[in-house]
Amino acid sequence: MQVRVVNVNKRYVGIAALDDVSLNVEPGELVALLGPSGSGKTTLLRTIAGLEIPDSGKIFFNDEDTSEGRIQKRRVGFVFQHYALFKHMRVMDNIAFGLRARPRKNKPKESEIKRRVMELLDLVQLSGLERRFPAQLSGGQRQRVALARALAIEPSVLLLDEPFGALDARVRKDLRRWLREIHDRTGHTTLFVTHDQEEALELADRVVVMNKGKIEQSATPDEIYDEPATPFVFSFIGESSVIPVQVGNGRATLDERVLELDVGGLPDGPAQLYLRPEDVSLVTDGSPGIPGLVVSTRRIGGMRRVTIECGMLRHRIEFDAPAENQIENSQRLTIQISGGRVYGAGAEGYETERLASSATSDFKWAKAEGWPT
Ligand code: ADP
Ligand code: MG
Repeated sequence: MQVRVVNVNKRYVGIAALDDVSLNVEPGELVALLGPSGSGKTTLLRTIAGLEIPDSGKIFFNDEDTSEGRIQKRRVGFVFQHYALFKHMRVMDNIAFGLRARPRKNKPKESEIKRRVMELLDLVQLSGLERRFPAQLSGGQRQRVALARALAIEPSVLLLDEPFGALDARVRKDLRRWLREIHDRTGHTTLFVTHDQEEALELADRVVVMNKGKIEQSATPDEIYDEPATPFVFSFIGESSVIPVQVGNGRATLDERVLELDVGGLPDGPAQLYLRPEDVSLVTDGSPGIPGLVVSTRRIGGMRRVTIECGMLRHRIEFDAPAENQIENSQRLTIQISGGRVYGAGAEGYETERLASSATSDFKWAKAEGWPT
């Protein structure tokens, strides 16, 4: 089943929960909807499920315009973060619920329902637990029952809204891998909501990044990380530093030092340079670079994550140095920038506001200290 969302708008009082959203999910694809809380992920999922009616725009299941059909016809499997299993029902009856609730003419025979329940229990690796009640299961097991229940109706589309959100980190990781395996075996068209970038990047064929009711980018996990389309995507995914630069004559400069970076077609004027830790390296052989002052270091695995402040406005840049480098707070050092992306000044990153306000308040301090420029 292909799902096509075309120019969908949904407003609540004072807020555009979905702002002209268009999205295709191809048959059998596993797509993650990723974005901060309040970005519209749940609204989009509920609209696809037919639980919300869009103010405008259309949703197609294959070539069928869903606004013309009844919700039941969509055959959507839905799993929520807190999916209330029926507490008074055994696992097997929870899973069988959707099948037993069908109108008589579509209802499988009881023996067929039993067979299907056992098959699903095997799929979600809960065989032997069919007679338990939800209260006798762990959180992870309960979510697996919820998924089996969603799969029981043979959904044309599977919609999962932060299904592992309430579980602890270890269990989440296991279930993530497990969900991917189930998806590969059953091949359902699946939309998976998460605010956890690691979950999205590890699990999905394609990641759709949402912000304030809009889709910022829809691309493979590699593209999302390596070629973020907007400052928001850059700063929401992975680690990043942002510093203001000047673009002029097709080059970006930082405090009058020219950076070897592609500025695309950006117009002359102020711009923002977004950096990953790996875009920055320590200069140890005395060659020229950007001077900075170490403000913190911490050990991350085999590397040392170093935060420096540089330039008159004490912009913070984070990078990784080999762990054996003894780098200390207040030490002066020189860095080189070998990558990163330059975006126009207008667009906003995930944390731009916070960083910008701290930079402004630091300005007076920098002048008072006579920080070199
Ligand atoms: P997410 O799932 O990404 O956290 P939601 O889709 O739940 O985001 O919400 C998007 C925006 O719409 C939020 O600002 C939220 O407060 C608002 N919203 C969602 N549902 C309702 C509702 N039923 N009534 C009013 N506002 C809502
Ligand atoms: Mg939500």
